[in-house]
Amino acid sequence: MLFYGHNSKTVSANLIDEKCTYCDSNKLSIIVQRPYSHVFWIPMFPMKMVGMSVCGDCKQLLTEKEMPASYKKYVDDVKSYSKAPLWMWSGLIACGLLLSYGIFASQKHDELKNQLISAPKLGQIYEWRNEQNEYTLSKIVKINKDTVYVQWSDYTSTKLTGLTDISKMGDKAFGEQISPFTLNELKSKLEKGDIVDIEN
Ligand SMILES: [Zn+2]
Repeated sequence: MLFYGHNSKTVSANLIDEKCTYCDSNKLSIIVQRPYSHVFWIPMFPMKMVGMSVCGDCKQLLTEKEMPASYKKYVDDVKSYSKAPLWMWSGLIACGLLLSYGIFASQKHDELKNQLISAPKLGQIYEWRNEQNEYTLSKIVKINKDTVYVQWSDYTSTKLTGLTDISKMGDKAFGEQISPFTLNELKSKLEKGDIVDIEN
């Protein structure tokens, strides 16, 4: 369940040089409020400002639509210099930061995978996805110049997370079948997504 709602912050309350339309008092204030939306009580973004007038004596409250035109210019004046505080954007700012971090981390991880595929090591494990969307592992058992020999696991999983269990089996996870790949073939397998990850 998503708690989405609105709250509001009063950004200004100024006394103005006008008389109350109801009691003729000159204690008239202009109040401008800035509503903002929030999700789980985290402010997301500010919305359009709302102005009103309040009489200090009779407490009559008039919205922008109800107030006389002469009050309106005070409201516009206050609005013109009232900027929404930064914290009202905190939710959106946080989302933006998380997203940028996610993109950054994923680029870093891609760079690392490219480095690893170019420098194979004995015992290194590749995580594969086949055409049936099953996942399995292979282990490098031999390297001869540009050719890398991988030993396949006999086990597959329908989920990427299932590879953790296969990996935990250690040497028992791997069977008899061994296939050679050139470095270029491995790189293209990584680009195509057949190799989804490389254990460092
Ligand atoms: Zn009044």
